[in-house]
Amino acid sequence: MNYRQATYVMGAALVEQLPHDYGIEVAFAGRSNAGKSSALNALTEQTKLARVSKTPGRTQLINLFELEEHKRLVDLPGYGYAKVSEKIKASWQKTLEMYLTTRACLKGIVLLVDSRHPIKSFDCMMIEAAVQNDLNLHVLLTKADKLNNSEKAKAERLLRDYLKQVRAPENISFQLFSAQNKMGLDKLKHKLDQWYNL
Ligand code: GDP
Repeated sequence: MNYRQATYVMGAALVEQLPHDYGIEVAFAGRSNAGKSSALNALTEQTKLARVSKTPGRTQLINLFELEEHKRLVDLPGYGYAKVSEKIKASWQKTLEMYLTTRACLKGIVLLVDSRHPIKSFDCMMIEAAVQNDLNLHVLLTKADKLNNSEKAKAERLLRDYLKQVRAPENISFQLFSAQNKMGLDKLKHKLDQWYNL
């Protein structure tokens, strides 16, 4: 797949506003500051692309990008926006849950987690949703360029232990990633290619 072809399609505040549930979607999710925009930019080699999702007013939207006909990348906004009220967060959580549980064309989720910090409740919720709904999920341990080898090994070990603890099946995987030095970019593309060709 040529990820450079990504073009912005639309933003949807509600699952009902999404295009027809057909084709293949892969969704990127992560708490804000996890490195999602940087990862999307590295993947698509487009600096403008993820900026769309950061435009005020679009941060609560499900943003869709088309790669090829019927093959879409989906940017799911994370939490952590200081100015967002609890009410908006709760409504966004509902939309997110609805998207994860009802979207038939959703073939996989890429969950971005800052490799320097332990996983947070948002990450656990996403992993749990993947386990319960039998969804493919691939965790990117981001900003891995900031870690030395023993820290990298530790980040991987902590996540592996967590996945074991929640009895995550084999369709839940993870890798180290850095948008800055492109560590793991080929591996990520390989994973996405598999999903888009399912
Ligand atoms: P988002 O909120 O999840 O979209 O996160 P961003 O992509 O905007 O990144 C948040 C911060 O982390 C920014 O200051 C980025 O420059 C930094 N960042 C993102 N990816 C990397 C990376 O691979 N390496 C390093 N060192 N910093 C990164």
